[in-house]
Amino acid sequence: MDIIDKLAEVFKEFPGIGERQARRFVYFLMGRTPAYSENLSSLITDLKKEVAQCKECFRFFILSKNEKLCDICSNTNIDSSTLLVVEKDSDLESIKKSRVYSGKYFILGGLVPIVEKTTKSRIRIDELKNKIRKEEKSLKEVILAFSLSPQGDHTDQYVREQLKDIAQNPAKDGAGIKISSLGKGLSTGTELEYSDNDTIKNALKNRQ
Ligand SMILES: [Zn+2]
Repeated sequence: MDIIDKLAEVFKEFPGIGERQARRFVYFLMGRTPAYSENLSSLITDLKKEVAQCKECFRFFILSKNEKLCDICSNTNIDSSTLLVVEKDSDLESIKKSRVYSGKYFILGGLVPIVEKTTKSRIRIDELKNKIRKEEKSLKEVILAFSLSPQGDHTDQYVREQLKDIAQNPAKDGAGIKISSLGKGLSTGTELEYSDNDTIKNALKNRQ
């Protein structure tokens, strides 16, 4: 494997990038100045130094002091009666930008593939259970917000099943934690991160 192949292999691991695009990136870099490559590699190195992962919601955030929590989790004014569970950071950013949700978040870290037996190690289901148990007192609703795809639906079902015991359906007196999912405001196959504000708003309003 030469240097072109090696670098293309790295780019192929990026989300949504295939073999041809990966090679286009390599050729693009070859045409750039050494200073360009140096700047790029130092930015990549600094990225890991300047961000941290929130201990509560697992979101990545820019470190300013030595905080362990992101700005949402450390904000005491945030509505803690709802917890919105998303697949990844970019989904959280889209929902946050739409300004239609003001509660807490949790990043699951992936979706559950339909044909897979060992899902547990790949998503943060245990961490989610711990989070819900910890917030039991104030938490009223857990909203599952995955993309409307077969894999998103599968993840929705899997998480519901996993949370069944710790979040029974609301009793008559309102006890228990409700589990809801985004409404069908999103069209099938839509990635949450690419949805516009109105779509997200409707999907949240029509959750069930
Ligand atoms: Zn957080």
